[in-house]
Amino acid sequence: MLPYFTREFGNAASRTHVFGWRAEAAVELARERLAHGIGARDAREVVFTSGATESNNLALLGAAAAQRGRRDHLVCVATEHASVLEPCRALARGGFALTELPVDRAGLVDPADVARAITDRTVLVSVMWANNEIGVIQPIEAIARVCRERGVLVHCDAAQAVGKLPLDAAASGVDLLSFTAHKLYGPKGVGALYVRSGRPRVRLEPILHGGGHEAGLRAGTLPVPLIVGFATALELALAEREPEALRLAALRDRLLARLRAGLSGVFLNGDAERRLPGNLNVGFAGVDADALLAGMPELALSSGSACSSAKPGPSHVLKALGLPDDAVRASIRIGLGRTNTIEEVDAAAERIIGEVNALRAAKGAESRTEPAA
Ligand SMILES: *Cc1c(COP(=O)(O)O)cnc(C)c1O
Repeated sequence: MLPYFTREFGNAASRTHVFGWRAEAAVELARERLAHGIGARDAREVVFTSGATESNNLALLGAAAAQRGRRDHLVCVATEHASVLEPCRALARGGFALTELPVDRAGLVDPADVARAITDRTVLVSVMWANNEIGVIQPIEAIARVCRERGVLVHCDAAQAVGKLPLDAAASGVDLLSFTAHKLYGPKGVGALYVRSGRPRVRLEPILHGGGHEAGLRAGTLPVPLIVGFATALELALAEREPEALRLAALRDRLLARLRAGLSGVFLNGDAERRLPGNLNVGFAGVDADALLAGMPELALSSGSACSSAKPGPSHVLKALGLPDDAVRASIRIGLGRTNTIEEVDAAAERIIGEVNALRAAKGAESRTEPAA
């Protein structure tokens, strides 16, 4: 990225000089590399945005606007990221009908539920590839098939899947797919929306109007350094994807095994098999997750999604699994990634076990000293 922050400072939209052409060439090469990385058949299917939040908004608001007056119903899943749920709810406030599909106890959507939800007024179905809180991987191909049969667009938030799971956008059958650089060790502030080309045509209205960049779908000067970094980050992630997935899954399983060996009342949230290799969402019976996290700030853990930390409250994802409130409040999310080592995992397990034991002991002491009612 460095040359594009410094020497190669041209605007990719400048058509009249060599500085602009060089920036444009860098952007178009990155577009091709990203298209190749996600299994798009044509580089023009990749539209740059500021991140997956914007990609999700463009997909949902853009498809709804393009079909306004003809179709007015959207389908999403209760466990979607806020950047899918909130644009859907905003459209619902503006007169669209919205179906939020339930998930089963493991966090999975039933494609038969998708089929039942679709009506002849449905614009689009939005289902995430992999969940950011519980790591659960949805049956995207089966859902896309159902949507295709009914002539309904399917959008997929793949922010957690690209670079981590085997993924081929064209083969998956989805029409729109959101992803973002910083979830695969690229820079923050850049993402993309894959918009399938070919027939039947995917019709989208832009949400940002202006200079007509990105084939009229997203106005605004392109962040050339971030785009170049995005492409390199995806290539690096894909080059080591399989061994890294095995390594992370082994670390994750070791962490869970250690927690279970050291503590009673440890429960796993989300499907044990169909989940991201680096995701662990676990609860500790009787423990308050916020107190647990507050006691070990040197560990980068969370009780919900980092993206909604501004809106505290129990996780809507865990609630959608049907967990009782006390189990939701007792759960934390642990993400393992590229820089994590076996030593760190063992140290984290020990730290968590110590903190859970301390909290449980304090609670026990408290209830013993409570005056009889
Ligand atoms: C992080 C994330 C987003 C938001 O991506 P940004 O690039 O931070 O806007 C959307 N969906 C999922 C599933 C995510 O994990």
